[in-house]
Amino acid sequence: MTAVPLFTGPADLHTHSRVSDGTESPSRVMRQAAGAGLGVVALTDHDSTAGWHEASVAARDVGVTLIPGMEFSTRFGYKSVHLLAYLFDPADGDLNTETARIRESRLRRAESIVSKIAADYALSWDDVVAQTTPGATVGRPHIADALVARGHVPTRSEAFAGILHPRTGYYLPHYAPDPLKAVRLVRAAGGVPVIAHPATRGRDAMIDEKHLGELVDAGLFGLEIDHRENTPDGKVRLRQLADRFGLVLTGSSDYHGDGKPNRLGENTTPDAVVQAIIDEATGSEPVYS
Ligand code: AMP
Ligand code: ZN
Ligand code: FE
Ligand code: FE
Repeated sequence: MTAVPLFTGPADLHTHSRVSDGTESPSRVMRQAAGAGLGVVALTDHDSTAGWHEASVAARDVGVTLIPGMEFSTRFGYKSVHLLAYLFDPADGDLNTETARIRESRLRRAESIVSKIAADYALSWDDVVAQTTPGATVGRPHIADALVARGHVPTRSEAFAGILHPRTGYYLPHYAPDPLKAVRLVRAAGGVPVIAHPATRGRDAMIDEKHLGELVDAGLFGLEIDHRENTPDGKVRLRQLADRFGLVLTGSSDYHGDGKPNRLGENTTPDAVVQAIIDEATGSEPVYS
């Protein structure tokens, strides 16, 4: 039996709001998504589901289907790995314990980075708080915005290329679980895990096959291939890996409002893949418009 699709139109499965480091409220992201002609949009704030409720009300209002999600911060060795998680149970205790731990560590780490920068530039913690919505997952983007507000750099992206770049010396890491733990937590909460922008530094910097195999065994479902930061070489490799391990391939913008040049709908995910993610999930339902 072929089910009648409950959604229509292009799908963008990776966006951020002010609940993390996007510059727009969750409802504004939904309005912008409708304005961009999207039929489906996933809200995937870093390590937080605090935007889900507002986004779901707005999504119904503007007529887009919402896939509630999150971008889970993980670390593999020294390398940061972002795991997109869709349609998990937002009340899952183990998952919430872990994301609370990451958010807390991100806060302490941001305070420490600001102390280091403050030795060389006029910058206070209050400057960062002024750029952050209360309760938001704090990251380097908020420090970047404070540096812009102080006139030290012209844009957020230039702050990342300079003062906030790991090689400049102000950088510090935050706590993050390894990807295997994160995949297991997402699956245990009924969600569907997909590795975000896995090929930003080319095919050689990518997670190796042995460890990818372990993630697949633990329930990894897909790889985000169409993302502006994946290299052309890396995309070729991602296609091979998806074939080999039976993973779906997604595409998305990683929209951050005015915080990044990425535009809503600049990459999209095929309907069949969206449907496969929905069918796979048991933790929560999409919000159909
Ligand atoms: P953090 O997780 O605190 O180390 O900060 C890195 C995050 O900043 C990544 O998830 C990026 O997507 C995000 N980000 C937001 N805006 C920008 C930007 N303009 N340039 C680079 N990264 C950015
Ligand atoms: Zn972000
Ligand atoms: Fe990311
Ligand atoms: Fe992102």
